[in-house]
Amino acid sequence: KAKADGRNTCRFYKPEFTERILERVRLERQLRQAVDDDQFVVYFQPQYELSTQNIIGMEALIRWQHPDKGLIFPDSFIPLAEETGMIIDIDRLMMRASMSQFKSWLADGLKPGVLSMNLSMLQLDQDDFIEFVKRCFLDYELEPASIMFEVTETQAMLKPEQTVIALKQLSALGVGLAIDDFGTGFSSLSYLKKFPVNKIKIDRSFISDLPEDRDDAELTRAIISLSKSLNLDVIAEGIESKDHLEFLLCHHCDEGQGYLFSKPVPAEKMRLLLETSVKNQPERVVQT
Ligand code: C2E
Ligand code: MG
Ligand code: MG
Ligand code: MG
Repeated sequence: KAKADGRNTCRFYKPEFTERILERVRLERQLRQAVDDDQFVVYFQPQYELSTQNIIGMEALIRWQHPDKGLIFPDSFIPLAEETGMIIDIDRLMMRASMSQFKSWLADGLKPGVLSMNLSMLQLDQDDFIEFVKRCFLDYELEPASIMFEVTETQAMLKPEQTVIALKQLSALGVGLAIDDFGTGFSSLSYLKKFPVNKIKIDRSFISDLPEDRDDAELTRAIISLSKSLNLDVIAEGIESKDHLEFLLCHHCDEGQGYLFSKPVPAEKMRLLLETSVKNQPERVVQT
């Protein structure tokens, strides 16, 4: 009788729940395979000086070319990669792939500006990371000044004291540093001053409803003026419309990226954008 009751507690059993766990196990196994085979592809999104619309750099964004499922976006696997620690290998694969591509554009005389790459905070805890970065600069013959790393505000603020130390080590190499998704975490002003960062990236959730949403408009203006008073560069992400652009220009946001200019694109497409952008620069037009 007691046994029967015990079995009854299984009435909460949900097949979808088991299915979800199995799916996660499968995904984890496939992600490990993806790391072993390097099934990742780098997409690049150009970044612009808003006043001239010249390309000043690009952000490398990961895609997973899954053997059966096609192209998978980072939001579907980066969280699992973080949980399992696989993000450390993944970010290093991405860094090598992005830098190698970036180098080839420089070698061809293009002007790709600054290469920006996203880093997990887990990476900054690795003792050999600084050595790894230095190794990459040698392997791809890149100047540290042409490289920027982005860490999200949320991750940076998890252990802010540790972040300060880690970012100082990176910054000492001569690379640029940016706080990503700014406005979604809870930075205190004192930490923002202590982080040795060069740039603030306004999260795209603040941009999407500009200029109508008054709170977002107020916050965006506040972040821009905060950046200026701390002597930091500021870039807006997720610029999708002329209205967004106009608002940002009007409030002196210097840089931006977004679908209005270009979606993240594969390397061949990025090369075309760089070639066109060089042609559009006045001095080149005079030469040809
Ligand atoms: P993020 O670094 O904040 O990158 C910006 C995201 O906004 C990208 O999404 C980009 O495709 C998207 N985006 C850009 N412009 C627009 C726009 O105008 N409208 C809209 N709706 N979206 C826009 P994506 O590529 O899906 O990447 C998502 C996040 O995944 C990134 O956010 C970043 O946090 C993470 N991530 C991407 N690549 C890497 C990587 O190599 N390493 C690590 N650790 N994280 C990465
Ligand atoms: Mg980013
Ligand atoms: Mg962002
Ligand atoms: Mg984001």
